[in-house]
Amino acid sequence: MDDKISGMHLGSCLVGEDEITEIVERLAREISGHYESLVSEENPLLLVGILKGAVVFLSDLARALDVPVSLDFMAVSSYGASTDSSGVVRILHDLDTPIEDRHVLIVEDIVDTGLTLQYLREHFSARGPASIGVVAFLDKPDRRAVDVAVEYVGRSIPDEFVVGYGLDWNQRHRALPCVRVIEEMSSEGENG
Ligand code: 5GP
Repeated sequence: MDDKISGMHLGSCLVGEDEITEIVERLAREISGHYESLVSEENPLLLVGILKGAVVFLSDLARALDVPVSLDFMAVSSYGASTDSSGVVRILHDLDTPIEDRHVLIVEDIVDTGLTLQYLREHFSARGPASIGVVAFLDKPDRRAVDVAVEYVGRSIPDEFVVGYGLDWNQRHRALPCVRVIEEMSSEGENG
């Protein structure tokens, strides 16, 4: 799929649908095993999805988990260019739920520099949760700028800009069922 106006096109699937299913099931097993003795119907695990990219992953993960969960969302935005992270985080939508004494699991689409996550961990820690953990569907370890803990990682990928399975490029391609690399078309142009 090419976008002649922007000069970008989509590469083949880097993480296919079957692999996505395997990743979600493995993460769900690990997370359920860790939290089963800590949470209950009265005090469920609070999954905090970071909008909008984590929505698709969160909806799959929430249904695969074997422990009681409740859901909340947070929207953050980093200032700066569209395919680069500036590290300055702005809260666009905060949680509806108080997190004091709750077991909180932040659900992220992808960890890149780690700056967003570092900010979120500090922001949440100040609110007195029982624990904070992070699950990220994808990780780009080569891009890490800060040493931030990510308890559960779906898969590490190379330093490429990816879309699909919730991830966007200019709000597009979020509904692609697999993860694809987005590439700039060569200046000679391509006919497809
Ligand atoms: P960080 O603060 O770790 O540098 O940035 C994390 C955020 O940057 C992710 O939640 C995501 O919104 C965005 N991001 C980083 N890498 C990619 C990528 O390859 N594709 C897309 N669509 N977003 C990315």
